[in-house]
Amino acid sequence: MSKCVHCDANNKGWFYCRSCGEKASVSKFSTNMWMRTERGKRSDIEFRTQTIDESVDEMNKERNTRYA
Ligand SMILES: [Zn+2]
Repeated sequence: MSKCVHCDANNKGWFYCRSCGEKASVSKFSTNMWMRTERGKRSDIEFRTQTIDESVDEMNKERNTRYA
C-alpha cells in the first residue's frame, strides 16, 4: 500500500490524496494511467488539440473544482 507523499496518509490507490487533497504520487506512470482512464472517457478530439501541459493544468483545475 502506498502512502501520500505530502501528508504520509495511507493511500488506497487514489491519485489524489483523500486526506490532504494533494496528488498522492509523483510518479509519471500514475499520471499517464489517470489520463488513459478518466481523460480517455472524454473526447479524444479535445485532448489532441491541447498540449500535454495544458491538459494536465486543466485536469488539475477540474480536480480542484470537484473537491473544493
Ligand atoms: Zn496527503
